[in-house]
Amino acid sequence: MHGYTAGATDYLTKPLDDHILKAKVHVFLRLHSQYQQLQENNAALTLAASVFESQQGIIITTADNIIIRVNKAFSEVTGYSSDEVVGINPRFLKSGRHDSDFYRGMWQSIENTGAWQGEVWNRRKNGEVYPEWLTITAVKNEDVTIHYIGTMTDITNYKSAEEQIRQLSFYDPLTGLPNRRLLLERLQLGINLCTNNGGLMALMMLDIDHFKSINDSLGHLAGDELLQQVANRLSLHLNNSDMIARLGGDEFTVLLDSINHVDDGAHIAENIIASFKKPFYLNMDTEYEVYIGVSIGISVYGQHGTTPEHLMDHADAALYKAKDSGRNCYAYFSEELTIAARQHIELEKRLRQVIEREELLVYYQPQVDIATGKIIGAEALIRWQQPIEGFTSPWQFINFAEENGFIATIGAWILRETCRQGKQWLDAGLPPLVLAVNISPHQFRHSDMIALVVEVLKDTAFPAHYLELELTESGLMDNQDTSLFMLNNLRQLGVHLAIDDFGTGYSSLAYLKHFPVSTLKIDKSFIDDIPYQQDDMAIASTIIAMGHILGFKVLAEGVETPEQLAFLQEKGCNSYQGYIKSRPLPAQEFEQLLREQL
Ligand code: C2E
Ligand code: MG
Ligand code: MG
Repeated sequence: MHGYTAGATDYLTKPLDDHILKAKVHVFLRLHSQYQQLQENNAALTLAASVFESQQGIIITTADNIIIRVNKAFSEVTGYSSDEVVGINPRFLKSGRHDSDFYRGMWQSIENTGAWQGEVWNRRKNGEVYPEWLTITAVKNEDVTIHYIGTMTDITNYKSAEEQIRQLSFYDPLTGLPNRRLLLERLQLGINLCTNNGGLMALMMLDIDHFKSINDSLGHLAGDELLQQVANRLSLHLNNSDMIARLGGDEFTVLLDSINHVDDGAHIAENIIASFKKPFYLNMDTEYEVYIGVSIGISVYGQHGTTPEHLMDHADAALYKAKDSGRNCYAYFSEELTIAARQHIELEKRLRQVIEREELLVYYQPQVDIATGKIIGAEALIRWQQPIEGFTSPWQFINFAEENGFIATIGAWILRETCRQGKQWLDAGLPPLVLAVNISPHQFRHSDMIALVVEVLKDTAFPAHYLELELTESGLMDNQDTSLFMLNNLRQLGVHLAIDDFGTGYSSLAYLKHFPVSTLKIDKSFIDDIPYQQDDMAIASTIIAMGHILGFKVLAEGVETPEQLAFLQEKGCNSYQGYIKSRPLPAQEFEQLLREQL
């Protein structure tokens, strides 16, 4: 009894039996070893528990993806307690930022390799979306998955540091604009797009005139503020897709990658220069008004380089040219482009004022009946009387107005003016004439011709059957069904219709015979070489014969010689226009010609 209280666990009686001793020692050794194993297991469990409660969030799920355990860190990151999530599928954490392909790839990898890791955007309980680094491991028992363990680390801080680094390496800290590095990347991207898909791109290099003197006199803080305001003002003149970058100092670059015309660069440059004429207000102790200017150099992809380096260098060289020619102006890398763009812009400015400045005139060219030799009509032809250069050719003028979307205004003006004049001649007792007005294809397609004609006829009280509209083949054939609809509507108003420059475009005879047109005007080019060119003579006489079969009258344009007239007469052509009778004349002179015929 005393022995047990002293700590003994067993005893042997004498005399000692060897077998019993050995058996007992054996039992105790086994007991001891099991005890030690138990101790080790306990230590491992404590270790596992402390690993489980580590800094990383952990989720353990069943093989069919039902959460059986999460740790504290999981709850801290996601905001969900263990009670809220045990028993459900972890998909409630999804942020919606990844598509199903993403998750499919993830599970594929777990199935194939037993694990997956990567960046995942999940959603916390409070709704906030956050980035985490997630590792999912399949736990297997003899090749059968029994659990999945997911460990996750919230990497929000790391990501924002990464963003900050990106910001620093691609953006200018003062203005927040892209820096040279980002510009070069975008430039290369733009070049690739232009090369593959066609398209135009220009690069503008800008330099603030006299920036240094402001910096020196008002101090660097004022200089910094000015640069920020410059960045803001520049952005007012650009599309969202254009990129402004600051290369350093007072040098800015603009990448125009959505222009349609080489001149667009000059337009934007003009607008920027004009807006820089307004003062900047620097909010120093008291508000300070400063005036600066800007010089701009432009290089165009393709014409002035096909690599980022060339485009940059050449825009830079153009900038020096602009500065040399007096600052506060722009220049392209090539002289011709600068001159052409400046002229173009000047012309466009004048074009916009052409109506209010009353620089437009209508000339009238008689249309003569071949059988009687009498004037039966006139074609109204536009003339632009420019104060300095004199006349611009109507072709150039009309093309230019079409390019600039100004044709509708000009077309409406000439229609109104011709009808006004026609009515005045009728009221003055002159013999009634059909006055023909040219309608450009662009005008026919893009403006509401019918409404315009109705309005003008009403306003001027000119009878519809004395008005003829001349349309070109290409304008009509571009969209045949719409054309047919428009022509029928115009014809219903009582207006006559003619096809101008016939023979130079292509006409579908199938459509032609349905068009409610009264006259075909044979283009001057087929008349010019009569009687020397057999081909032209054959074409002219074919048009006359065919026109008659289809029920049209035929007029020949550009008749200059008696031989031409004799030929046309012989072939039965109805009427003509041409210098042999008269050039296009100002209204008064035309009126005189008419009176002589009375
Ligand atoms: P178009 O409609 O075919 O006009 C005939 C052109 O031929 C006129 O040129 C006329 O002056 C010229 N012409 C007539 N007879 C002769 C001749 O015997 N010899 C020569 N060498 N030329 C002759 P213009 O006035 O220079 O007009 C050129 C074109 O500009 C017109 O061709 C027309 O397409 C366009 N145009 C003129 N005015 C208008 C207008 O008000 N609106 C529109 N949309 N286009 C117009
Ligand atoms: Mg014409
Ligand atoms: Mg013509």
